[in-house]
Amino acid sequence: TTFQSLGLSEPLRKALAAKGYETPTPIQLQAIPPVLEGRDLCGIAQTGTGKTAAFALPSLDWLARNPGLPPKRSARILVLSPTRELAAQIAESFRDYGRFQRLSVACVFGGVPIQKQIRALVSGVDVLVATPGRLLDLIDQRAVHLKGVEIFVLDEADQMMDLGFIVPIRKVHGLLPQQRQTLFFSATMPKAIADLGSAFLTDPVKVSV
Ligand code: AMP
Repeated sequence: TTFQSLGLSEPLRKALAAKGYETPTPIQLQAIPPVLEGRDLCGIAQTGTGKTAAFALPSLDWLARNPGLPPKRSARILVLSPTRELAAQIAESFRDYGRFQRLSVACVFGGVPIQKQIRALVSGVDVLVATPGRLLDLIDQRAVHLKGVEIFVLDEADQMMDLGFIVPIRKVHGLLPQQRQTLFFSATMPKAIADLGSAFLTDPVKVSV
């Protein structure tokens, strides 16, 4: 199977060709078709399996097929990541795969001044990649709201739990629109993580690599 047969939109096919990616990895092969159909996803996959593209490509495809400006001080795609390093990598992947479509991406995390992040969110962004604590700070300061979120991605759920982010994540979840698509990823799926997943997901497709 090639990327060409997955039915991704033209700008994404161009970006993949430019990167020299021809064959989807197993997680991409399993995840992309149902996510393109609008299904929720629960994925068990480690870093290095190509899971970033497994959620970034169908999310970018959604934006390409449903053009429109994001609402002010909100985001259409929200990705939560446990660490700033991973958040930065994810944002970079979105910019890279999305380079042939109109796209704004912001990445926010703690440990750096908040003012620049507040300014970056004023006009709204297509994709916001965030760590949970800084996202809640920005919400408290009215710099961002989650009413515009159409796709919610939770990456590395088990890491989130290890780092003590369960309460912040539940808060974020409570502020999301009911009608949205949710993509949930974890390297491992102990019961506590599976329970967290079932609170967020509606009839998810389960994939594992
Ligand atoms: P990830 O698991 O998302 O951290 O991705 C691992 C690495 O594989 C990254 O450097 C990606 O750029 C690369 N990658 C992802 N998908 C593919 C693919 N289909 N073909 C070749 N490389 C890929």
